[in-house]
Amino acid sequence: MKYSSLDFGRFDVVVCGGGSAGIAAACSAARAGASTLLLERYGFCGGVVTAAMIHTLDAIKSCRDYGSDVVGGFASELIEEVRRLGGLAIDDNPGEALTVHPEVYKVAIDRLLARYGVTTLYHAHVCGSIVEGNRVVGVEAALRDGRARIYAGVVIDCTGDAEVVFYSDAGWTLDPELQPLTYHFRLGNLLGKLTWTEWETVMGRALNAAHADGEIGVFGGPWVIRLADGEISINSTRVYGNPVDPLGLSNVEQEGRAQMLQLWSVLRRRVPELAESYILAGASQLHIRESRKLQGEYVLTEEDIQSGAEFADSIALGAWPIDIHPTNGSVGVHPHKEDPPTPYEIPYRCLIPKRVDGLLVAGKAISTTHRAHGSTRVPGTSLATGQAAGIAAALAARAGILPRRIDIRELRATLQAQGAIVSYAEGMPRA
Ligand SMILES: Cc1cc2nc3c(=O)[nH]c(=O)nc-3n(C[C@H](O)[C@H](O)[C@H](O)COP(=O)(O)OP(=O)(O)OC[C@H]3O[C@@H](n4cnc5c(N)ncnc54)[C@H](O)[C@@H]3O)c2cc1C
Repeated sequence: MKYSSLDFGRFDVVVCGGGSAGIAAACSAARAGASTLLLERYGFCGGVVTAAMIHTLDAIKSCRDYGSDVVGGFASELIEEVRRLGGLAIDDNPGEALTVHPEVYKVAIDRLLARYGVTTLYHAHVCGSIVEGNRVVGVEAALRDGRARIYAGVVIDCTGDAEVVFYSDAGWTLDPELQPLTYHFRLGNLLGKLTWTEWETVMGRALNAAHADGEIGVFGGPWVIRLADGEISINSTRVYGNPVDPLGLSNVEQEGRAQMLQLWSVLRRRVPELAESYILAGASQLHIRESRKLQGEYVLTEEDIQSGAEFADSIALGAWPIDIHPTNGSVGVHPHKEDPPTPYEIPYRCLIPKRVDGLLVAGKAISTTHRAHGSTRVPGTSLATGQAAGIAAALAARAGILPRRIDIRELRATLQAQGAIVSYAEGMPRA
């Protein structure tokens, strides 16, 4: 068996992970003139939005009124491409949730990657980093034909789990109270034309009654994503485990799938509209709300979010409420949407490791506390931090300087020129 150290060459920017953050980072770096490589372990991009079947892009708009945009730039371009391809799902879903058809979404992303000239390697699992002194100069990846070494001016970790941070010993935290994991599944052949809210109500009633009768254990929500009249995706299984423990994660994958069957069995018996439903698909993997987080030059806190703190090096806005799924065995919907924050600023320093150079982090694993992560983790905000990381990496690679040394005014100006929203502006709803 071939297991050699292939030399795959050198790129200005290497982006690891093709989720919300990774696609924004790769396209934005390439658009800013950097030769850019994207490495994704699956055969498609989208991350949690496609692989985990969440299918919604939250925090694109302010969660106070769902009127004003808080994320523009690459996210707007992506949404426009999805719309053009007919991939925006029915529009009677709640205001915060922009819902996309996953298969169209994958194609829209492929088109944008091609438009900007990103070299995309699917089935490429990043499995190590190349560090010289305290500088990350590349990564190792398991490709279809062996293990490759890939060199970069700047590496961007968009894996959601801070994998490159981990391989580079760049400093990370793992909260003792991680959020639960969820295995999404999609049901087809639904009877009746219920709205999103009506589905959640009838299913919630059934699951709560089944729980009270001892038929099922813990469950969340249910939160329903309505893709069409006869089809929904369900976020309701709830398992607890350490997502970076290989055996532990394998065990909870099995538990998540077993819970899917239990919930489906209850729903078929107790909800008439689901009596003839069948499971269309289960997610590619159990999905992880929270795992490793970067220890960055700045750690964003709950207080920053609640006070609407402003930063001179702000590169993106967040808007989602602090949404932490409970770990205490409670069931159903947990309170989190009562008090959505004013759109708040995220400083560039949250993307920069404290301990090493040559590396940036975007998306779910940026430098925050456990509480602040409950808000920053959603796709809208990940698209925004991804775009900032991509441009910052391109600027650094082009000038031959470290990402921490770039001119923040140039970064913000380039982001704005690409249509991104980098700071709180008049007209956005305040408390
Ligand atoms: C169960 C669940 C439900 C959620 N529900 C909602 C919701 O309803 N609405 C909402 O807005 N948000 C929701 N979220 C949050 C949100 O979807 C994610 O937190 C967000 O998409 C994170 O984006 P990301 O780009 O940082 O990471 P991800 O979307 O996780 O992308 C990471 C990418 O990196 C790839 N990758 C990872 N490791 C490697 C590696 N070693 N080598 C190569 N590739 C790698 C992955 O395959 C993936 O494509 C939910 C999250 C979870 C887990």
